[in-house]
Amino acid sequence: MPNTVLVLGGGVGGLVAASRVRELLPEHDRVLLVDRAFEGALGLSMLWVLRGWRNREQVRVRPTPTALRGIDMIKAEIETIDVDRRQITTEAGELAWDALVIALGAAIDAQGVPGLDDAFASGTAGEFYTLAGAEALHHRLRGIDSGRLAILVAGVPFKCPAAPFEGALLAADLLRSRGVRDSVRIDAFTPDPLPMPVAGPDVGTALVQMLEEHDIGFHPNKKIERVENGALHFTDHDREPFDLLAVVPPHRPPAPLTTTGLGTAGWIPVDAATLATDAEGVWAIGDVTALTLPSGKPLPKAAVFAEGEAETVATGVARYLGYDVPEARFAGYGGCYIEIGGRQAAKGEGDFFAEPAPAVTLYDPSTKFHDEKVAQEADWLNRWNK
Ligand SMILES: Cc1cc2nc3c(=O)[nH]c(=O)nc-3n(C[C@H](O)[C@H](O)[C@H](O)COP(=O)(O)OP(=O)(O)OC[C@H]3O[C@@H](n4cnc5c(N)ncnc54)[C@H](O)[C@@H]3O)c2cc1C
Repeated sequence: MPNTVLVLGGGVGGLVAASRVRELLPEHDRVLLVDRAFEGALGLSMLWVLRGWRNREQVRVRPTPTALRGIDMIKAEIETIDVDRRQITTEAGELAWDALVIALGAAIDAQGVPGLDDAFASGTAGEFYTLAGAEALHHRLRGIDSGRLAILVAGVPFKCPAAPFEGALLAADLLRSRGVRDSVRIDAFTPDPLPMPVAGPDVGTALVQMLEEHDIGFHPNKKIERVENGALHFTDHDREPFDLLAVVPPHRPPAPLTTTGLGTAGWIPVDAATLATDAEGVWAIGDVTALTLPSGKPLPKAAVFAEGEAETVATGVARYLGYDVPEARFAGYGGCYIEIGGRQAAKGEGDFFAEPAPAVTLYDPSTKFHDEKVAQEADWLNRWNK
């Protein structure tokens, strides 16, 4: 009997998982990849859209049947995932699986902060966690000549722990290029005690120093309560006015996850080495997962990990279906770039599974790291848009 492998979500993790499973399985087995749009973008590209180095069309990832040869692409909204009956429901009908990989990412919830929707509607606030948002915010940054720009992390967890601070640094770079940087104050607010707390105090402190060197205020332990009349209201009763707000909106588990019965908080608990869930024949990768590190903190939501996990899970799926492929174990090694403007990027990289805490090094900004990032984006676009 031919097998059916179902991969849910055609973002970073899903694309790599489906492709790798296809390579490992014989032709008679089916690989189905389901996504609502088959249209995405790398997160790092969104930051460049915010800065104005890219426009939306230049960075869109629209995976083609050529890039996904041998994989059935099904464009549909996934509604429920029933791990007991081994089937999903979509707006286009039901699909059954022999092995399932869940790679649905994290959903953005702009309504998760009272008053934020109104601030978006009035044009005083924007976000840079979607392509459309990043482009709109870029235009707002082109229009501000004085006052205060606030960068707000509205909740944890959120994708890419460096991104809010990279956003602040790139906004500063854009304002500098416009000759108005000295008349716009920039402040970053986060509920965390330091930037990228998972990477440890040395990395966090170095990032705060980097922000200070660029005259960006850093405000830790700030939990937002509401946005009202052009001001951030925090749970400690602090009120911080802004002229323009750039927000990392709260993230939520995608709706179908609530139907799986896996995990209590919505994010799916997985085995750190295999990404297996508690349900037989079901794996989860990328932003949907709750992967607890030896330090007790969760693994950050980042493309570099989604991609590594996808490689691991593909071998797990093939072995589960009875094929003789070598076992792979996810090692938790990875890192990300922190663009600071002027075509320079720093890089934080290390072993997140190290005990008792992740061993991460922050390398100084250089053009080399910026160029690596440019190459990463080009490789990704060439791989899927062909
Ligand atoms: C501004 C920004 C900067 C970033 N920078 C970096 C960086 O420098 N380095 C790094 O490693 N990571 C970075 N990231 C994080 C990275 O983008 C994510 O961690 C990564 O995309 C996660 O991959 P994923 O496969 O889990 O989810 P995604 O890539 O988000 O894919 C999820 C897919 O599921 C689909 N989907 C969701 N729900 C449904 C449904 N109900 N029905 C059908 N389809 C559905 C979506 O359409 C999407 O295609 C950044 C993110 C942002 C926002």
